[in-house]
Amino acid sequence: MTDSFNKMLVKAMQGKSVDEMLDASPDAFWGVSKNMAQKLDEAFQIKTLRQLAQNRFFHRALAILISSGEIHYDQGPPLQWAKFFTHAPLDYYISHPSGRFRLDFGPVYYRGRLDGTARVLVVGQDPAANEILGHRIFVGRSGQRIQGFLKKLGITRSYTMLNMFLYSVFGQVDTTLRAIAKEETILNYRNTYFNRLANENPIEAIVAVGKGAEFVLDHWPGSINIPIVGIVHPAAPNESMLLTSWNNALEQLRDIVGPDDGEQPDPDPYGTTFLPKDIIPIPRYDLPFGMPDWHGDGSSGQRDGNKKIVWSAP
Ligand code: URA
Repeated sequence: MTDSFNKMLVKAMQGKSVDEMLDASPDAFWGVSKNMAQKLDEAFQIKTLRQLAQNRFFHRALAILISSGEIHYDQGPPLQWAKFFTHAPLDYYISHPSGRFRLDFGPVYYRGRLDGTARVLVVGQDPAANEILGHRIFVGRSGQRIQGFLKKLGITRSYTMLNMFLYSVFGQVDTTLRAIAKEETILNYRNTYFNRLANENPIEAIVAVGKGAEFVLDHWPGSINIPIVGIVHPAAPNESMLLTSWNNALEQLRDIVGPDDGEQPDPDPYGTTFLPKDIIPIPRYDLPFGMPDWHGDGSSGQRDGNKKIVWSAP
């Protein structure tokens, strides 16, 4: 495996282990002189390839490059977030005695920016079939309605979304699920997740999608520092009531959250039902590389029992 790096690294590094490579000075790269490596150290305190790979300024520069639209897919969580997700309490969910979690297709962790550029935090409840297929939350019909809601604020990119639970649930968010949401293991992990997002991002507002989301935010001590606006869940059957709640929320949010670069807020309120223009396909930059163009536009995934999801092209 380490021969794979022969074209990148100087001869002296050949045959070394990956750990030895990561501990080497940046002048282990072909094309980087001792002098250049010394300047990297002086300017950024970068002494090793590991430090070079993990340098926060380089990651920030990448975040800005990605926001320019040059990269059209979600590259997945940055390294530190990927590490954080490996500590998710999946076993706790898997062995949960309530039997309320749909475990077969695995967890879904997030959608949107984890690179320190999120200004709006959207908190939902649990992923459904389209989310499991795209491995990003809020990408089905509910997600496209939420995308339209954010677009009305002129927010097209600077958001992060997470759910109260990592797995889909059986049934509605009832008293049992609320109690589970407060169990120490689940609560601590979710609150650590919230804390990380709040520490690393300039969050201006939180949108709580549904009563379950409001409930978990009530149990996050850090929420007191950030305005929270609750909205009726986009899957609620009474559209007129739902859209009244969304119009009220937009009024509050417009005072707090400005549009993304090059975007304009849309001052028109929703009517009494969703119109096609209110529903926005999920941007490609929120979906993993290689997803078909139609995933995130309409609904392509449906459950068929617990062990089967039918994914149909339009
Ligand atoms: N509803 C949610 O609350 N979250 C999702 O990810 C999908 C639907």
